[in-house]
Amino acid sequence: MADPTCLFCRIIAREIPATLVYEDDLVVAFRDIAPQVPVHVLIVPREHLVGLDGLEEAHRTLVGHIALVAQRLARELGVAETGYRLVANCGPNAGQTVFHLHFHLLGGAPMAGKMV
Ligand code: 5GP
Ligand code: ZN
Repeated sequence: MADPTCLFCRIIAREIPATLVYEDDLVVAFRDIAPQVPVHVLIVPREHLVGLDGLEEAHRTLVGHIALVAQRLARELGVAETGYRLVANCGPNAGQTVFHLHFHLLGGAPMAGKMV
């Protein structure tokens, strides 16, 4: 269910503009407003989920779908060969700032250091 106070629900509803790069029945993908690398796309489920911690068994297929959308976009946006990251921040220690589940697809330049 969409949350009218949620930034990403409002982007999905086209109430707030964003540069969309992909959409289907389950997800929308758009450019991050403050890209950290040349290719920085957010892959967001249409369903309002607060984050990784809001996932339930019923979302198993959705998460697999997001991984395959990330792979497809990495190819289409030209970063599959050079490499990319798919990152989801969950909660305060991870630095999550928007509480609608999203995965950052990052690529197009070497990323400083290894996170893990
Ligand atoms: P988080 O910090 O929750 O993992 O990621 C939230 C991301 O949303 C950040 O990378 C931030 O730059 C991005 N963001 C915040 N506001 C907007 C917006 O209005 N439009 C777009 N396209 N991205 C946004
Ligand atoms: Zn939302």
